[in-house]
Amino acid sequence: MAEDKTSEGDHPGEQPRDFIRSRVAEDVAAGKHGGEVHTRFPPEPNGFLHIGHAKAITINFSIAAEFGGVCNLRFDDTNPAREDPKYAAAIEEDLAWLGFSWGDNLFHASDYFEQLYQYALQLVEKGLAYVDDLSAEETREYRGTVNAAGRKSPFRERSVEENLDLFRRMRAGEFSDGARTLRAKIDMASPNMNLRDPAIYRIRKVTHQRSGDEWPIYPMYDFAHGLSDSIEGITHSLCSLEFENHRPLYDWFLDKLGVFHPQQIEFARLNLSFTVLSKRYLTQLVDEGLVDGWDDPRMPTLAGLRRRGYTPEAVRSFLAGIGVAKFNSTVELVLLENALRVELNKTAPRRMAVLDPLKVVIDNWPAGEVDFLTAINNPEDESAGTRTVPFSGELYIEQGDFKADPPKKFWRLAPGNEVRLRYAFYIKCTSFETDPETGDVTLVHATYDPETRGGDSPDGRKIKATLHWVSAEHSFEADVRNFDHLFQTPNPMAGDDKTKFKELLNPDSLGLKTGCKLEPGLAEAQPGERYQFERLGYYCVDTRLSAPQAPVFNRAVALRDSWAKVQARG
Ligand code: ATP
Ligand code: MG
Repeated sequence: MAEDKTSEGDHPGEQPRDFIRSRVAEDVAAGKHGGEVHTRFPPEPNGFLHIGHAKAITINFSIAAEFGGVCNLRFDDTNPAREDPKYAAAIEEDLAWLGFSWGDNLFHASDYFEQLYQYALQLVEKGLAYVDDLSAEETREYRGTVNAAGRKSPFRERSVEENLDLFRRMRAGEFSDGARTLRAKIDMASPNMNLRDPAIYRIRKVTHQRSGDEWPIYPMYDFAHGLSDSIEGITHSLCSLEFENHRPLYDWFLDKLGVFHPQQIEFARLNLSFTVLSKRYLTQLVDEGLVDGWDDPRMPTLAGLRRRGYTPEAVRSFLAGIGVAKFNSTVELVLLENALRVELNKTAPRRMAVLDPLKVVIDNWPAGEVDFLTAINNPEDESAGTRTVPFSGELYIEQGDFKADPPKKFWRLAPGNEVRLRYAFYIKCTSFETDPETGDVTLVHATYDPETRGGDSPDGRKIKATLHWVSAEHSFEADVRNFDHLFQTPNPMAGDDKTKFKELLNPDSLGLKTGCKLEPGLAEAQPGERYQFERLGYYCVDTRLSAPQAPVFNRAVALRDSWAKVQARG
């Protein structure tokens, strides 16, 4: 479960020395790049950040900080058709929320378009790049397969002069979209498909969000990425494992151009059970309206997690716990949930809320009287103090806490059973009423023992169950969203057909409950505040759906985990 963690004790106050930190430490010790460490986080502004990005962010920013270096934020904005400034803004917001600062080091690959174009010209001049006229489909066909070598394009042997002329005319906008590409001249028989004369530039007459219509051609990711790293003087380019077989190409461009050469190092991508961590798939959920936007609290995006009630501390503690390794694996979602639970247990004020209300009438309660009882705000934090909660002759308890015909060892409310109401009194059920048509219990009658005020027994009699409750008259109604997993299965991306995952969405993931009865003080709850609803879970006031005096609560995480189940599994 915990990946590749070694010798935690060696470096007090730091992350344990995973393989990346060891490697960086070696470079520093050897005085490589003057002992400097410079990293970067390079998102494409085409969607919101997810928790997988948080892993990459944490690795890049923390390692830079630990070695006294700097981490750049660079938008890899080479694909204008899919990008939008609103995503760049969201990315900056999420990064700041996580607690990382790039200071003045905010860059854009588009800042380097001219320099990248000059590099491409140099490759052409060196006879290492050529303009190809094959169509996209022909190019695919010529590329071959993993088992069969590719074929050389008939345009591969153009002279340097002809290539220079054609590439300059591509840049001048003379040709239509897709008519030509500039390709690196490497090896059509390479077992690494990325080296089979990859495209460097393509023609796209699309307005760019920053450079406008200045460029009719755009550099491809592999070309732009490594050279942007080089231009910025990045010493260690830390990225996820899917780029491993792009590294030979990354190195090829830098070597052939003879420019500053960063070291690319790959780490395992974060995969989490019951969700998907890839922008291209999350985009589909958003665009097709299958979730309520990027910040839907069921989404694994940082905006979604934040809205759900996650704190940056919980996210960082989760990431520290899973460590950094070289091999891909799927991390159990309960580890993320548990990180939040551990934190909120310490910090979240306790309140009472009844989500499936059943009315209880205390028949011996003095008519019209209201008692104000003292409730502890957080047993884990004495400084959180106490509050008073009103108690009256009509209360709500959870439907599940009453049974007309209880099985053995049902200690909660049932005819003849006595229970403790949290911070209040002992009550004993005397009778109940049902709906004549459905047979459902509609009302419970009980008596209370005035000697048990505060929930303590005067004569030491044993009470096994303590229930939460609210006073009917004083409570208010609210919507509560008891979210469940976004997907029905632990690995929705299993299998070859990558379109299937949408069929695996959990139709019950929203868990909306209306008409919940909450203790009166919660009416003042402010968007973003987190509470523990006693016996139920941790809830956060929704930042979009709440109105003054009308909070909507999102379940951040249930009270108990399924930790035991996980341990049994693996
Ligand atoms: P797409 O699915 O479209 O490739 P993405 O989610 O991979 O999108 P990118 O913008 O390509 O997002 O990722 C930016 C950086 O974040 C990359 O350097 C990549 O290494 C890292 N990254 C992306 N996903 C993960 C993940 N699941 N775990 C760790 N790092 C990740
Ligand atoms: Mg990616």
